[in-house]
Amino acid sequence: MRLVLLGGPGAGKGTQATALAQHWHIVHISTGDLFRYHRDHGTELGVLANQYMTQGQLVPDELTEKMVEDRIGQSDVAVQGGFVLDGFPRTVPQGQALSAILASQHQHLDAVLYIFVPEEILEERLVGRRVCPKCQANYHVTFHSPRVADTCDTCGAALIQREDDRPLTVQTRLRVYQEQTSPLIAFYEKVGLLRTVDGNQPPERVTRALVAAAGKVADD
Ligand code: ADP
Ligand code: ADP
Ligand code: ZN
Repeated sequence: MRLVLLGGPGAGKGTQATALAQHWHIVHISTGDLFRYHRDHGTELGVLANQYMTQGQLVPDELTEKMVEDRIGQSDVAVQGGFVLDGFPRTVPQGQALSAILASQHQHLDAVLYIFVPEEILEERLVGRRVCPKCQANYHVTFHSPRVADTCDTCGAALIQREDDRPLTVQTRLRVYQEQTSPLIAFYEKVGLLRTVDGNQPPERVTRALVAAAGKVADD
């Protein structure tokens, strides 16, 4: 199973990619997590990417595509027989690059699952998001609060707010999404891969809808 999750910032891509990766035993590839890993380890790529991330802008396509190509080529993807991409592609050129990467490996996407959530709800989700800096688990101050305030349920680390989840940067990210990422909806619709799911319902229901939508494509 090779899937792409499409949706605005805060649509639930990370939450759902985690669930889908467990469901199908495939690899969860999050470009946001990869960039944050590089940033936290002070690599050249991380230092460069962070300048864009803190502004709410996209990291240049070329850097992002190279990172994804390397990641898709790692052995766990071959062993587990698939992946769910979370946060990539985010521009039409990235979508074209992904097609080329997969074609060179004689592979193709099974489905692009578009998680639709209205913009005012995206905003509320982003500013309330809290994340675990240690294990990447994510929470929300009202929709998914941890058992002990500000503490990760899984690993006990103190939760933080991402710098780019502050209100001003959130506005920029929502605009960048409209301008640069939303054209991918038509891009994938045209090739018959797009399946739209209502993301404005409890996470477990979104997961069920996504599994059903992906299954439908495979049977088509
Ligand atoms: P993305 O990866 O698309 O930015 P996340 O999965 O990080 O989205 O979710 C954004 C925020 O919204 C997080 O705080 C998360 O806990 C919360 N969230 C995710 N899915 C739902 C949902 N179905 N209903 C309410 N809140 C959600
Ligand atoms: P969100 O959870 O809001 O969808 P991510 O964690 O996926 O955000 O991404 C955080 C930031 O990392 C983005 O705002 C952007 O700067 C950078 N980034 C992630 N994926 C990409 C991508 N495919 N292309 C360019 N930049 C990206
Ligand atoms: Zn944790």
